[in-house]
Amino acid sequence: MPEIAVLPGDGIGQEIMPEAVATARAVTENRGFVWREHLIGGAAIDATGGALPPDTLAACLEADAVLLGAVGGPKWDALPVNQRPEPAALLPLRKHLALFANIRPIRMIPALIGASPLKEEVVRNVDLVVVRELTGGLYFGEKGRRSSPPAAYDTLIYTEEEVRRITRLAFQWARERRRRLCSVDKANVLESSRFWREIALDVAREFPDVELTHMYVDNAAMQLVRQPDQFDVIVTENTFGDILTDLASVLGGSIGMLATASLSGKKGLYEPAHGSAPDIAGQDKANPLAAILSAAMMLKYSFGLTAESERVENAVTAVLADGWRTADLAEPGARIIGTKEMGAKVRAAL
Ligand code: NAD
Repeated sequence: MPEIAVLPGDGIGQEIMPEAVATARAVTENRGFVWREHLIGGAAIDATGGALPPDTLAACLEADAVLLGAVGGPKWDALPVNQRPEPAALLPLRKHLALFANIRPIRMIPALIGASPLKEEVVRNVDLVVVRELTGGLYFGEKGRRSSPPAAYDTLIYTEEEVRRITRLAFQWARERRRRLCSVDKANVLESSRFWREIALDVAREFPDVELTHMYVDNAAMQLVRQPDQFDVIVTENTFGDILTDLASVLGGSIGMLATASLSGKKGLYEPAHGSAPDIAGQDKANPLAAILSAAMMLKYSFGLTAESERVENAVTAVLADGWRTADLAEPGARIIGTKEMGAKVRAAL
C-alpha cells in the first residue's frame, strides 16, 4: 500500500496540512493510501529535543512520498544555528532523501491576475517551470575564512554527474510540456557555467525533440519580469535557482499559491514554497492552496494519478473563479474566507 509521510511542522503548517491531506484523501478514497503524521521542526524540538527525530527520518526514508507543511518560528530563533528547525531538519532531510532537483511550476490562474504586482498583459500567459539544482554548487562547496588579510570564500563546484542528472531531468520535463528548455548560467564569467553548458549540450543529444537555449542569469532575471511567457522550462544551478524562483514566485500572485516538488528520481518531497508565517499562525487566515496544490503534485509525480491531480487543480481554479479568497489574495469585492473554509470549498468543488 502506498504510504505517505505527512509532516505538518510549525506555524501555519499545522493549519494548511490537514486541508491538503483531506483534499488528497477525497480523490484517492479507494486506493488504500496510508497517511502517517510525524514530528518535524520546532514541534519536534519541543517534543523530543531534536528538529529531525530519528523515527521521522526513518519514516520518510521508508515512505513512498513526503508531504511537508513548513518549519520554524520565533520560538526557536535563539537556538544555535545548527539546532534551528530549517538547518537541522530541512537540509538534512533533503540530503538523506538525495533530493537533487527542486521543481517549481508557476502558472497564472486567470482569476488571480489582479493579485500579481505586474501588468496584466505581462503575466496573462505565464506558464513555466523552474528546475533548480538543490544539492550542489555554492551552498555545498568548500567554504572558509582567512585571517590575514581577513577574507572569506565559498566554492562553486559541480561534478559532471550532478549537471548531467539535473539537465536530463529538466529535458524530461520539457518533453512533457512545450518542448523548450532554457539553461540559465553565467558562462561569460564562470568556468563552472561553461562546464555546465558543455554538459547540457551533450545531454541535449538525447532529446532532439526539445529545443535547448542558453541565457545568462542577469538577463534571465530581467526577462522573467519583462516577458515571462517566453519561458517553458528553465534549468539552473542552486544559487541562481534560489534567487530566480523567488523572483518568479510573485508572477502568479501570492506565495500562498505556490507548490513545489523536490525529487531524487525515486522519491519526492512536496511542500508549499512559503514558510510557517508566524504572523498569521493559529488565526485561520493562512491560504491552504499552495499545500493543496503540493498534494496534487504528489499524486501526479509520485503516484502517476494525473486525473486525480487535475481534479484538485481544477477545483482550486473553480473556487477562485467563484470569487473566494483568503486574505493574502484579497482584492476589492473579494469574498474573504479562512483556511478551513477554503479547504472545504475546494473539496466541495472536486
Ligand atoms: P513566510 O513565507 O513564512 O512568510 C512571509 C509572508 O508571507 C508573511 O507575511 C506571511 O504571513 C505570508 N504568508 C506565507 N505563507 C502564507 C500563506 N499560506 N497564506 C497567507 N500568507 C502567507 O516567510 P518568513 O516570514 O520569512 O519566515 C517565517 C518562518 O518560516 C521562519 O522561521 C523561517 O525560517 C521559516 N521558513 C520555513 C520554510 C520551510 O519550511 N520550507 C521556508 C521559508 C521560511
